[in-house]
Amino acid sequence: MPIYLDYNATTPLLPEVADIVCRTMLEEFGNAGSRTHEFGLNAKRIVEAARQQVAEIVNADKAEVIFTSGATESNNIAILGLREFGKKVGKRHIITTKVEHKSVLEPFEYLKSLGFEVTYLDVSESGCVDVNDLRASLREDTLLVSVMHINNETGVIQPITDICKTLANHEAYFHVDAAQSFGKFPFDLMNKRIDLISASGHKLYAPKGIGALVLRRRGYLRPPLEPIMFGGGQEKGLRPGTLAVPLIAGFGAACDIASKRAQEWFLSASETKKNVLRALMELNAVQNGENTSPYVLNFSVPGINSEAAMVSLKKIVAVSNGSACTSNSYKLSHVLSAMKLNDDRIAGAIRFSFGPEMKELPIKQMIKCFRSML
Ligand code: PMP
Repeated sequence: MPIYLDYNATTPLLPEVADIVCRTMLEEFGNAGSRTHEFGLNAKRIVEAARQQVAEIVNADKAEVIFTSGATESNNIAILGLREFGKKVGKRHIITTKVEHKSVLEPFEYLKSLGFEVTYLDVSESGCVDVNDLRASLREDTLLVSVMHINNETGVIQPITDICKTLANHEAYFHVDAAQSFGKFPFDLMNKRIDLISASGHKLYAPKGIGALVLRRRGYLRPPLEPIMFGGGQEKGLRPGTLAVPLIAGFGAACDIASKRAQEWFLSASETKKNVLRALMELNAVQNGENTSPYVLNFSVPGINSEAAMVSLKKIVAVSNGSACTSNSYKLSHVLSAMKLNDDRIAGAIRFSFGPEMKELPIKQMIKCFRSML
């Protein structure tokens, strides 16, 4: 099997996490909403312990965390959930960036179709937004600012702390899609100016199908979200449906491990990335994006097309080009296009994304493979 280098698509499960998920599934099958017996109460205890573990990643109170099915759902609840409040108080201006994940861009487009005004912030060639642009875009009727933390395609880290400073005297709600950083990149997200944070279990060595939305209170008030689904009233009425106790237990366990090891993971991944980058320089590769996460390396090698490279590399490493690809159409990455990279560089972009345990990558084989294509 090739070596898996597509951690931004999804990570493998940590064995400790898999153990907890399986054990919970087999032994704690109660419904966390059943108040009348031990089975339900035990399941609820497991959920509440996991809620605490998730909250600790961003220094939140556990009452500020709701469980969802993943970052897509969290993003949808955070953005669409503000619609009624915006209408009520006459705030219909919302701001995001051109490089967000589709699960942010599409809810924004939807709100636009309902009469909201959207500002899409540009990024520079480095992939980064400029806080001066944000400052200039803010209006009295700005309801929401949504900026991702780490870009899934390039790994570019957005200036969340500077954005918090820019928003210090503004009432707009600030949402951060932290799918790629939650638990892995132990900076920025503790900032109390961030009102809403989306997280995903399967980017943090937990199973797919579980995520969270952190809703930080301002004083005693939580962000005024309305639900986008209706049902049994679970998760403060914001995310109805029977809680997926085994997945929640797994996500909590992954967060607990991350709390203890994020620094060590960060250093280890930084070293791996430095070594790969050094080797790729022999081929005059250019990195796409600056100030990037240690877990991601997006690069282009002049003269090499990413589709061809991925086929050639297939037996050595499993990678992606991070751009949307369907059976009938091939679309250039909206992220790299927003960075205004030239078409050849975009068509050559390859994304390696990895985990902290990968100290040795098959660098020599990869370089040999690239050379054979030149
Ligand atoms: N946002 C970002 C930045 C992502 O990378 C992803 C996953 N590709 C998502 C949102 C969606 O996450 P999920 O798969 O948990 O719905």
